Amino acid sequence: MTLLDGKLLSQTIKTELAAEVAEIVACGGKIPHLAAVLIGESAASQVYVNSKIKSCKEVGFKSSLIRRDADVTEEEVLEIVHRLNNDPDVDGFIVQLPLPKHIDEEKITLAIDHRKDVDGFHPVNFGRMAQGMPAFLPATPYGMVEILRRYEIETSGKHCVVVGRSNIVGTPISILLSRKGYPGDCTVTLTHSRTRDLAGEVRRADIIIAAIGIPNFIQGDWVKEGAVVIDVGINRIVDETRKSGFRLVGDVDFQAVAPKCSYITPVPGGVGLMTVAALMINTLKACKGTVYAK
Ligand code: NAD
Repeated sequence: MTLLDGKLLSQTIKTELAAEVAEIVACGGKIPHLAAVLIGESAASQVYVNSKIKSCKEVGFKSSLIRRDADVTEEEVLEIVHRLNNDPDVDGFIVQLPLPKHIDEEKITLAIDHRKDVDGFHPVNFGRMAQGMPAFLPATPYGMVEILRRYEIETSGKHCVVVGRSNIVGTPISILLSRKGYPGDCTVTLTHSRTRDLAGEVRRADIIIAAIGIPNFIQGDWVKEGAVVIDVGINRIVDETRKSGFRLVGDVDFQAVAPKCSYITPVPGGVGLMTVAALMINTLKACKGTVYAK
């Protein structure tokens, strides 16, 4: 079994990006600028945003953090989005989800200029991705694709079972892996909470993508010998032996599943860090006008 080391891989990507940024700056080019909007006090959201800001520093990007309390109005969030859309110095920005209940996430996502949508959540980017056109790929699926590519994992003709059909993870990765080319050309089964005999479906998989949000959900006896397992889940479970009182686990029962796999991502240290690396790649593309000409 080989561990798919998201920590190492994300570091490699950041080193590559830092070299490219240094070259751009040496030639008098524009420093890429990522802005992040963080609403409320959610501990998980703060950790994610801090990690994104820290990565910007590591690769030499400029970053801005716009914070508002949880009782901010939807109108004010829309104003922030419009301001960032129109700020020529900002190449790309993210609005960290989830938002407080009184703010319509769909409305906010639709208000983001798709040319600055480096999270790849806007329907224009989603539609372009589905049609194989240049697009900002959603950061988590993009990170997974980079894991498969950089570990040179064979995907052509493989049966991939995706568990979970969210708009930001399960559905887009099922599209990306069924697309023509590498990494892709998979035969994909997209499963969800209404799937009959989920264990039976997962057992047929050469590649399993777990994006459910339930700790240790995928069991050892659901996994075929030699399968590739990508665990997207990030779940906090109580652990009184830790100073924090919790620890992070994935959607896969790692202890039971790992011995059967050819490759598996750990949690933490797998897909989460690659999501941030993919966001950095998208931001550099936004700055350079690679996806949408400036
Ligand atoms: P979501 O809640 O939007 O979607 C979960 C999906 O799981 C749904 O489509 C649902 O149908 C399916 N599901 C729920 N219960 C099921 C069951 N019993 N059987 C089969 N399917 C079931 O979640 P999401 O946003 O896609 O996130 C999934 C997990 O990935 C979470 O743990 C989240 O924290 C994590 N996540 C990680 C990253 C990262 O960067 N690594 C990014 C996004 C999400």
